[in-house]
Amino acid sequence: MNKVATVPAFKDNYLWVIHNDTHAVVVDPGDATPIIDFLSRHNLQLVAILTTHHHADHVGGVEALLDFCHVRDQIPVYGPANERIPARTHALVEGDAITELGITFDIIDVPGHTAGHIAYHAKKEGWLFCGDTLFACGCGRLFEGTAAQMQFSLAKLKALPPHTLAYCAHEYTMANIKFALAVEPDNVALQQRARTDAAKREKNIPTVPFTIENEIATNPFLRWDSPAVINAANIKARSQSGVSGINASNSTPVLVFAEIREWKNNF
Ligand code: ZN
Ligand code: FE
Repeated sequence: MNKVATVPAFKDNYLWVIHNDTHAVVVDPGDATPIIDFLSRHNLQLVAILTTHHHADHVGGVEALLDFCHVRDQIPVYGPANERIPARTHALVEGDAITELGITFDIIDVPGHTAGHIAYHAKKEGWLFCGDTLFACGCGRLFEGTAAQMQFSLAKLKALPPHTLAYCAHEYTMANIKFALAVEPDNVALQQRARTDAAKREKNIPTVPFTIENEIATNPFLRWDSPAVINAANIKARSQSGVSGINASNSTPVLVFAEIREWKNNF
């Protein structure tokens, strides 16, 4: 029986260890130390490393982890084809599928945060490892991609089965919810989520994973078709430029998303 364990790292990163009590797969090991610690404590043998994008807080521990395992040639390091990933053995693009621990992961291209960012979708298990693309009630910053690319990437994740559990790489949830409430103060599902997630954080419980269904109801970066979000984006666009850029009749998902992303950058 496979399960997913949370390994906190740095200030607010989550590294993920998928394991069956004997063998383990690590997702986005930005730091090797807490992973080595976890593997040792639970007597787990590393069999593969999955990476979503090239940022150091996601791949910084790959080399040290391989050194620790001594059998570095036998451990595949999966990563996006279009990025530089240390020690990568398998270059992945959308349409590829890999199998580890009996779990099949479909690869989804999700450019925007970085140019080659990928996500891993375990369809049967209902798990998504999405790195810095989709966050709980938020999304990654556009460091290398455009708003149009990111909106298209998020639309793919939004279309996954509603009960899919998304494992993102950071605990940014409370700050994201604060922003989401500024966009949609009257969203009842969002108000409810603010209470639920605040209670978790008070007890230091991760708010990740989360369901796609809950994101669709509460995450302003997926709600480009919600009248309240379109309206808020329109008011923001008008106040920033003096020109009404978007409204219910001419709004496009990309325009709404771009406006909300820009708003959050300055929030
Ligand atoms: Zn990143
Ligand atoms: Fe990150």
